[in-house]
Amino acid sequence: MSSQVHITDVVLRDGHQSLIATRMRTDDMLPICEWLDKIGYWSLEVWGGATFDACIRFLKEDPWERLRKLREALPNTRLQMLLRGQNLLGYRHYSDDVVRAFVHKSAENGIDVFRIFDALNDVRNMETSIAAVKESGKHAQGTICYTISPVHSIAQFTDMAKQLVDMGCDSIAVKDMAGLLTPMVTAELFAELGKAIDLPVHLHGHATAGTAEMCQLKAIENGCRHIDTCISSFSGGASHPPTESMVAALAGTEYDTGLDLKDLQNIGFYFREVRKKYHQFESEMTGLDTRVQVYQVPGGMISNLYTQLREQGVLNHIEDVLNEIPRVREDLGFPPLVTPSSQIVGAQAVVNVLTGERYKSIGNEVKLYLQGRYGRAPGPINSLIRQQAIGNEDVIEVRPADLLDDEMDNLREEIGELAGSDEDILIFAMFPDIGREFLEQRAAGTLVPEPLEPMPAGGADSSKKPTEFNVTLHGETHHIHITGIGHRSQGDRPFYMTVDGVPEEIMIETLSELEDGDSEGGARSGSKRPRPGKPGDVSTTMPGTVIDVLVEVGASVQAGDPLLVTEAMKMETEIQAPIAGSVAAIHVAKGDSVNPDETLIEISA
Ligand code: MN
Repeated sequence: MSSQVHITDVVLRDGHQSLIATRMRTDDMLPICEWLDKIGYWSLEVWGGATFDACIRFLKEDPWERLRKLREALPNTRLQMLLRGQNLLGYRHYSDDVVRAFVHKSAENGIDVFRIFDALNDVRNMETSIAAVKESGKHAQGTICYTISPVHSIAQFTDMAKQLVDMGCDSIAVKDMAGLLTPMVTAELFAELGKAIDLPVHLHGHATAGTAEMCQLKAIENGCRHIDTCISSFSGGASHPPTESMVAALAGTEYDTGLDLKDLQNIGFYFREVRKKYHQFESEMTGLDTRVQVYQVPGGMISNLYTQLREQGVLNHIEDVLNEIPRVREDLGFPPLVTPSSQIVGAQAVVNVLTGERYKSIGNEVKLYLQGRYGRAPGPINSLIRQQAIGNEDVIEVRPADLLDDEMDNLREEIGELAGSDEDILIFAMFPDIGREFLEQRAAGTLVPEPLEPMPAGGADSSKKPTEFNVTLHGETHHIHITGIGHRSQGDRPFYMTVDGVPEEIMIETLSELEDGDSEGGARSGSKRPRPGKPGDVSTTMPGTVIDVLVEVGASVQAGDPLLVTEAMKMETEIQAPIAGSVAAIHVAKGDSVNPDETLIEISA
């Protein structure tokens, strides 16, 4: 038996997802495809939840169109995608008919290898997608999300691998999304997996904590023949071990990958130039981040938290949030931290810290989780918190999708003529709001991608405009230093600055507000809400977007009645009436952005 090691390069999916917020455009992928196709990779990972989301939300590209173009440009290489089992590419559980339609369409449009995982490692949530991949005649890769907790062990992971074999998978993947694996544990894990099952086991790990290459070598020594790497210019840090380095490390040994280093280097040079275009999306957390070994929080999640807390002006709480995440995770029975459980745990931890009281406010997703609607938690759930969140409501024991009726017909009807194909319906299914907006803009011919900032002359670090100046206010002069400019979103652009060198961040919220000045009528809806003062003034603890307004002016409410649903950090939260009374005024509508210092609804007692 050959000991050749096979490579999956992830530059077109996880590489740019980990380093430049998933912003690489199809136009930057296609020119190099001819070269990529000649390399002889086992597969190229090209598609997943975040790439689909970013295409629609930011790049205004049809993700299906991207897939078809890549398929055409890469005729000789397997194309691989990452699929969240019953969550597909979204954040909720879909009915089986949507799962089947999605898998069949993905196969039809070009996917060969489906890497399927469930955030809780509940294999029941992977059944339907694995079966659908097999129906399509494609490769189903069952995935184990690696994590560390008192309820996870190597024996338990090998058990899961056996179940995935029994379910008809063609291969198994160990997905170390956080970069938690250490070399000796990897050796043991792969040795045990090799004894337990006959299928090839792929290793996907992140370089965040600096141990990934060592882990790959140890895995290979213990029977692993498939590793995920990323071309060097998109490797390292929150991304993956560099392809060229691993190819060089194994060259001339029994594990030789057979790949040409010089051709790979040319591809590396190409992507080095491409990466410069996206400098505005580079994370501040570059290089190694060993905190994952302390907090067990994936690097991508840490950098997301940084961005979100900074945008909310509460970055000073980051340490508290990082300490709170493992506690919430324990309360929820130690789910691995991967989409969507990472969002559920992360958002609840942020709420726990920002409200100053643990579980004072509990997100809707957390409630669903506690009801068993995401599947079976790996370990026991804190019963006090479950009681507090869902009272005596039933906890389901069955596979969550068993309770869902078919959805495709309803989705087709809901989106109507905006959808010209099943692929369009599935865009809407994955992302009801931004998916519909995308389809509307496409129909109207008004799709505009978010702009890329030109690289300042001399590189990303030099800037041409003055960023430091003094401001005199009430006779005192303050030194202002603009430390950064955020991304434009919904017409807003945050500016980050320090005053007199104080590290606390002050943010001018929107450029459009500055431009509007105090002129009436020019302000965006929602930018002039009153500040909360009275007991009946309803505000939010976290900045977010209004998903739904549940009451009308004049309605009478009891304390605790739900008034609004907001979304922050991909998590929905219900805002409840603080007092009993009648709704005197509503200052928000669905889709509005809201902040904690605003009154959203007024209730008069
Ligand atoms: Mn990954």
